[in-house]
Amino acid sequence: MQYFSLNKKAPRVDFQEAVVRGLAPDRGLYFPETITPLPHSFFQNIENLTHEEIAFTTIKQFVGDAIPETELKHIITETLCFDFPCVPVEDNVFSLELFHGPTMAFKDVGARFMSRCLGYFNRNSNKKVTVLVATSGDTGGAVASGFLGVKGVEVIILYPSGKISEIQERQLTTLGQNIKALEVDGVFDDCQDMVKKAFLDDRLKHKNLTSANSINIARWLPQMFYIFFAYQQLKKRNKPLIVSCPSGNFGNICAGIMAKRLGLPIAHFVASTNVNDTVPRFLEAGHYEPKASIATISNAMDVGNPSNFIRIQQLYRFDLKEFQKDFSSYSFSDTETEKAIQDIYARTKYITEPHGAVGYLGLKKEMAKHPDSIGVFLETAHPIKFLDVVEPLLDLKLPIPKQIESVLEKEKVSVKIKTYETLKQFLD
Ligand SMILES: *Cc1c(COP(=O)(O)O)cnc(C)c1O
Repeated sequence: MQYFSLNKKAPRVDFQEAVVRGLAPDRGLYFPETITPLPHSFFQNIENLTHEEIAFTTIKQFVGDAIPETELKHIITETLCFDFPCVPVEDNVFSLELFHGPTMAFKDVGARFMSRCLGYFNRNSNKKVTVLVATSGDTGGAVASGFLGVKGVEVIILYPSGKISEIQERQLTTLGQNIKALEVDGVFDDCQDMVKKAFLDDRLKHKNLTSANSINIARWLPQMFYIFFAYQQLKKRNKPLIVSCPSGNFGNICAGIMAKRLGLPIAHFVASTNVNDTVPRFLEAGHYEPKASIATISNAMDVGNPSNFIRIQQLYRFDLKEFQKDFSSYSFSDTETEKAIQDIYARTKYITEPHGAVGYLGLKKEMAKHPDSIGVFLETAHPIKFLDVVEPLLDLKLPIPKQIESVLEKEKVSVKIKTYETLKQFLD
């Protein structure tokens, strides 16, 4: 399998090179040259398959010859070490809970898969790879946990000092080993700018820097798995399926569309956003106008220029009419989100957090147009990760899960930095 750059000015590469590079030399995102639908028999028989079998069948063509089959199976088993239940919330509405992994966010799947691919590529090399990543909260923890102890990979996480929750900070500052946390005196955008600068800096070429955001195909593609798992659980209901993803960089929903290109019968996609509404505006007006991000309570989606949107455009052949056939996007304010968290709890006793609640709102809006369908929204994080929002709204105290308790006991270790120069000194 070959990958091309969506900027079209870089050579084609195989899976290994695309993963190691992260971004193509022309700064474009990598995209697979072919997408071959899976046979009918796979979908007919899907309820009899294990998660590992589904994952292997769906990702095999994208990995190609870069990883031998037995090794790929092993990577998948290590990636999928937790459950992905579709929990009924109300009539015909399900929450696909993606938060049962080690850091209680869906990013565990992509981070675990990518780290193990890099570990495999580095098996015989003494050239270290450095994963450099900026986080506004959730990515850092998942990357830290996913890459912990992976041979030949050093991970450096930049986070804005005082701007992430205590749980999130502990998740990325307490692990040690090959994981280093840099506490930046600034906001998330400052962290992101430093990372971008480092990638472009010729004097850091020898560090083999790569990213662990969903621009990396090894983080993005495995996010298809759980859309297949959702279908596996809901197939017997025999109704058109609507999938709503709370979207920030649009990696998750883009993986869902890939799953559909492989033949998965999803009737409609909803990209649900907070007030960072670049994509909903695009679908309405037909032109794409990114803007600076606005801070909200669903902060993992505070993205003004979603990086995977170009991949979605490619999947819809840059044709707005194609888009509108099976893709909608709606935006919701914090007030609407807070009301939804309260309303869902009052009616059903189900506890959502701000991202899942945005997904729920988008799903309900679309389902109103298709009364015979069933719907699933992705619950992308455990409510405990957003306890500052959820507890006061519902007037309750959430029990602390064991994954979180274990990091709260450990000591925070971080290095404070302020400027790009200090980052460079640290890297050198
Ligand atoms: C990253 C994240 C999202 C957004 O996912 P994208 O793939 O970037 O659209 C949504 N919810 C949570 C909790 C996240 O951490």
